[in-house]
Amino acid sequence: MQINFKRYGLYLVRWQLSTPILALVLYYLAPIGALWATVVANLIGGLIFFWVDRFIFTSQVLAAQWEVREEIRCVDCGRVARGYRLVHAENYDRSGDDEPEFRCEECSKKKSEELRKRGIKL
Ligand SMILES: [Zn+2]
Repeated sequence: MQINFKRYGLYLVRWQLSTPILALVLYYLAPIGALWATVVANLIGGLIFFWVDRFIFTSQVLAAQWEVREEIRCVDCGRVARGYRLVHAENYDRSGDDEPEFRCEECSKKKSEELRKRGIKL
């Protein structure tokens, strides 16, 4: 399984954002009891976070996914270094690549520029 760490990180932050809503609603609606106050807080959270979650899980802005490996041989210059490869972007998918090509940082930047010129959204 490949994890998109940008999406995952945002998702964890988004969960924290629901904390103040819960705290405020529980504070102000304390007279109706914790159970009903929590129901109201979750309703408010659901109305807001449906849209936030939809963005997190479907936005192509967050889609570019890179794989990083240590000690690879760069396919362009042959240097052994930390290697990078683009796995997935909006209109680019190398997730099923049997022979993935890694590039050193320098060559990866050049390749990224080349991909951008071809219309790949990084
Ligand atoms: Zn290189």
